[in-house]
Amino acid sequence: MMIKAEYIWLDGTEPAAKLRSKTKILEAGAEPPIWGFDGSSTNQAEGNSSDCVLKPVKVVPDPIRGGENILVLCEVLDTDFTPHPTNTRAATAATAEKYAGQESWFGIEQEYTFMVGSRPLGFPEGGYPAPQGGYYCGVGADEIFGREIVEKHLDNCLTAGLPISGINAEVMPGQWEFQVGPASALDVSDSLWLARWLLYRTAEEFGVSATIDPKPAKGDWNGAGCHTNFSTKAMRDDYEPIIAACEALGAKAEEHVKNYGHGIDERLTGQHETAHWSQFSYGVSDRGASIRIPWQVEKDKKGYLEDRRPNANMDPYIVTRMMVDTVCSALEKKGLV
Ligand code: ADP
Ligand code: MN
Ligand code: MN
Ligand code: MN
Repeated sequence: MMIKAEYIWLDGTEPAAKLRSKTKILEAGAEPPIWGFDGSSTNQAEGNSSDCVLKPVKVVPDPIRGGENILVLCEVLDTDFTPHPTNTRAATAATAEKYAGQESWFGIEQEYTFMVGSRPLGFPEGGYPAPQGGYYCGVGADEIFGREIVEKHLDNCLTAGLPISGINAEVMPGQWEFQVGPASALDVSDSLWLARWLLYRTAEEFGVSATIDPKPAKGDWNGAGCHTNFSTKAMRDDYEPIIAACEALGAKAEEHVKNYGHGIDERLTGQHETAHWSQFSYGVSDRGASIRIPWQVEKDKKGYLEDRRPNANMDPYIVTRMMVDTVCSALEKKGLV
């Protein structure tokens, strides 16, 4: 029997990579082979030397096509099999391996917005809905826009076996969130990219688009972030490593913010539950801080931290690599592992 394998990869679009995919017919049960594509159509090569290589890294059941069909997440390589310059996963794999002993976990909260044309779903034509306040975790047709798509996306992620941990309606109409994890840096990142692909693909069936634009509606509306919850084994056992992790992230604040997603200065304005991008802070239960220590964590004196800075359009390979690198090296230096 033949099956359809949807090969999915990240392209070279600036300032934020886009997802691309195409279909290969395979014998059921066969290992998905290395494949290729035309890099000159994806901002990944010049026309005179256009071949790029697709190397499968994660295979899951395809909930859209069903049956024995599969989704195949790929890394992009050059034809000499070295990582392509747009491949941000290879460096994450190396860093995760280097600090594997510290057992990093990530839980990522992906916020996003449904759009119809240039308007968020639920925004009336030529005007604005009631100001935000009642939409977050709301119920009812006056507050909720797109729930049938959200439910279908959640089912699709679960059918694909992705480690989704929850969903909720967000502060702006048409804005939603799903959470992935806790899982390792590579697993959470691969899963988040697949969940994003499934989001776009699921919404497509409803004639709606989804965007991870960090500021989809200008003005007095919340932006969209990708809060990144993080712990190492030492942090899950003790409080001192959590404070040390916050301090380490503070010492490299500028470098982190620069790599946390394009347009971060438009979202981290100091308003709408954010800390200003140029000012680092951490605090217990503080949703106006760069990093929040959940109240339960302070009470238990162990657990995890929430980096609230990453934008909705961030690349999880980059964010998880930087957090592992910054925190794990600091904990090692301080003898806290
Ligand atoms: P918020 O209260 O900020 O909205 P959410 O419930 O949306 O938080 O997301 C919290 C995320 O943190 C979830 O994905 C959860 O699985 C993850 N998480 C929980 N414990 C840990 C941990 N020890 N390390 C890393 N992530 C964790
Ligand atoms: Mn959340
Ligand atoms: Mn949220
Ligand atoms: Mn959060």
